[in-house]
Amino acid sequence: MALIIFDFDGVIADSLHYVHSVYNRIAKERGFKLIDSDEKFSDLVSGNVLDFVDKMGVPKLELPLIFVEYKKLIKGAERKVHIFRGMKTVIRELAKHHELAIISNNTSDLISYVLSHNGLEKYFSHIRGLEFSFHKTKKFEHLLEQTRSRRAYFITDTVEDVRDAKAFRLEVRQDKPLSEFLEDFEIIGVTWGYHSWSKKGIRPDHLVEKPKDLLRIIREL
Ligand SMILES: [Mg+2]
Repeated sequence: MALIIFDFDGVIADSLHYVHSVYNRIAKERGFKLIDSDEKFSDLVSGNVLDFVDKMGVPKLELPLIFVEYKKLIKGAERKVHIFRGMKTVIRELAKHHELAIISNNTSDLISYVLSHNGLEKYFSHIRGLEFSFHKTKKFEHLLEQTRSRRAYFITDTVEDVRDAKAFRLEVRQDKPLSEFLEDFEIIGVTWGYHSWSKKGIRPDHLVEKPKDLLRIIREL
């Protein structure tokens, strides 16, 4: 049994257009920069959340209020955000043999609404959303300390996530306490999400083009 960690947006959920529209609604009300296309939003939001809010002219002191507003606005998100075709089966199949978790820059509420609406929440033992930390490396560390998994896989559509996951893996290898039990941490990139893999120098360990290929590759690893 391994721990399989999913990124949410762009891997499980087709949420880009919805989250972008919620951002623009808040931005319009509060006078932050509007973003005119899903693609631009996706590029801007894929890195560190604090860098994103900085670029958009969002004062950090207003962040707690904005979270409250975001949480209000995303009620009902489950009716607008769909699961990528084929992912429900993949999740159900993987859960038969592995422990499943989600690490995301989205809020845990939105993730829970969408998962429960699709009958998928029961398959995930851990969900670490934005409330937990702005830094994915911290979420990896905390999650693996809890699960003490020997093998872990991280599945993402985002170059920045791969960069963070590689940084985390390097830290573990450089004698972090986690290396006592974590023997293998592999990064799987997917091509159905929102980011192209063309940015130079940052590659996942494996790349898959269809959800069902995740089953094959995890079986083979
Ligand atoms: Mg993503």
